[in-house]
Amino acid sequence: MSQKTAGAVLPDNPPYLVEPASRFAPARRRSIPVRVGNRVIGGDHPVLVQSMTTTNTKDIDATVLQTLELWNAGCELIRITTPTAKDAECLQEIVAKVRAAGCDAPISADIHFQPRAAHEAVKWVEKVRINPGNFVDSKAPGEMKEYDDASFAAGTLKVREAFAPLVREARARGVALRIGTNHGSLSDRMMWKYGDTVEGMVESALEYMRVCEEEDFDQIVFSMKSSNPRVAIQAYRLLAHRLEAGGHKPYPFHVGVTEAGDGEDGRLKSSVGIGALLRDGLGDTIRVSLTENPVQEIPVAKTLVSLCDPAKIPPVSGGPVRGDAAEAVPEAVSFYNYQRRESDVVTLKTPFGDLVAGGREPVAVGIVAPGVEWLPKGDRKPEWITGESWPVMRAHVGAPVPSGHEVVEVQIREVAELTDVTPPAAGKVLWSVDPAAANLPGLYRYLAAWLAAQGRKDLIVLRDRTDGTPEGNMAAAARLGSVLADGIGDLIHVDSAASVQASLNLAYDILQASAVRRSKPEYVACPGCGRTLFDLRSTTQRIRAKTAHLKNISIAVMGCIVNGPGEMADADFGYVGGAPNKVSLYVGRECVQKNIPEDEAPEALVELIKSHGRWIDP
Ligand code: SF4
Repeated sequence: MSQKTAGAVLPDNPPYLVEPASRFAPARRRSIPVRVGNRVIGGDHPVLVQSMTTTNTKDIDATVLQTLELWNAGCELIRITTPTAKDAECLQEIVAKVRAAGCDAPISADIHFQPRAAHEAVKWVEKVRINPGNFVDSKAPGEMKEYDDASFAAGTLKVREAFAPLVREARARGVALRIGTNHGSLSDRMMWKYGDTVEGMVESALEYMRVCEEEDFDQIVFSMKSSNPRVAIQAYRLLAHRLEAGGHKPYPFHVGVTEAGDGEDGRLKSSVGIGALLRDGLGDTIRVSLTENPVQEIPVAKTLVSLCDPAKIPPVSGGPVRGDAAEAVPEAVSFYNYQRRESDVVTLKTPFGDLVAGGREPVAVGIVAPGVEWLPKGDRKPEWITGESWPVMRAHVGAPVPSGHEVVEVQIREVAELTDVTPPAAGKVLWSVDPAAANLPGLYRYLAAWLAAQGRKDLIVLRDRTDGTPEGNMAAAARLGSVLADGIGDLIHVDSAASVQASLNLAYDILQASAVRRSKPEYVACPGCGRTLFDLRSTTQRIRAKTAHLKNISIAVMGCIVNGPGEMADADFGYVGGAPNKVSLYVGRECVQKNIPEDEAPEALVELIKSHGRWIDP
């Protein structure tokens, strides 16, 4: 089947933020208010924290209990899995019981594949989420369907016919709708036209938005989720741009990273994706998807909202604001298409030997102390040390340039410091931002733009610091994730007050969470919902215990075969609930073993990895 290439329609880096916000001066994106029960998403209202139940919806008491647990934990909107019309019928009793218990949080129904379930759910809840990838279009397993322009247009018509009645019903009942695109579940039709791209994600949602606009209905919220935070960041940016450029209303955004996993990895991945977007002012409601009890998601989400509030982030001191001539300086990075910033390839002398850095080389992880005699156990080793032979000079006006060194790192704290600095010859100088600088990502963006304007391709060292607490680590991940998503950074050091080992681990983990460099297996694990066919938490831990020593491999652990295969993105291997207590194994998107008893499945996965030559003995 021929597939149209994307790219031709990708905007050539126009801003995705609306004046007066800019990439150097954050401000919350202006959005229209969307009423959801007794809450409002968007406008000037605080970012709303939400989560989703993981119970079987037909188990009404269990679903009511978990809804109340979420509400008691501070969850402000609770979404309930609604796989079928039968589940949707249960919503009437669930909502009645929840209200009787005093919970006034709005309830949303989560619909995939089943327009009938949506039509039933809209009677009982305050918000209905549909997935444009599967509301009407189906994704054929295996072979993709053939399309041409005429059949694509016929598909658009079919969307209109199927979706418009739901829109009318929602409008009549005062129910909000979420058009929730997932990277992993784009329809064949969109894949044919746009490929597996952020444009496909955005266009998929806009097709449904046009139906709402034709029906004069504006109570809609968008989401553009992916398990790859970089893809999510680019998709939300592109959507913001498309709405603005197309003269559409600025509908609010529900921001999230899907299948983030569990533990610290899940928190860092969420911080990188959700945090980077919130810092830029994109996001009116968020859901952190952890493979844990959903109650655990709430404090993480609240922490992110607080840490990444654009109102608390100052503009880059002395930097350009929208409309300034200085803003015409190109940033030399792509907002919508991940590319590493172009940098020289430089060989740096380190106590560990020569380090080739820059260009397309992996972002190299460094430490400041305690010196060459300190080497941690395990594979994650420091690759450079800032020390005697690698001085860091502040770039303030008139600072003498140290001589006699192989490498000098010039560090700025504000834009003004770049005005008079006379850097050493290219190839011998690295640039960084003082971690104490306010608005670190903004200043790194400015630095990249300034270097491009000077015609310099010097390497950039990402430096940040944390007090070593989970919150401090999440804040660093949000700051650095934002910069890494733009392809900026050739070396990285995250100073943790906890220990040198913690510094090292955090830097590697942030690179992994940002999908920039892998140093341990990548686990794509769904958060679970009413469709889940096994205990996701314990299963993920069992699989992790068997495979944690592998590198450069990604394994998806997905609770059901309905959405799992589509949502597991680009994982190398998939472990998917096929039936109660039965597991199907995937290589890429191909199912290679069906319905293995759950007890035997982890070992079968190991054998599968071995048979594909990806196993190494621990
Ligand atoms: S993959 Fe299946 S079980 Fe997991 S969250 Fe999605 S729908 Fe639920």
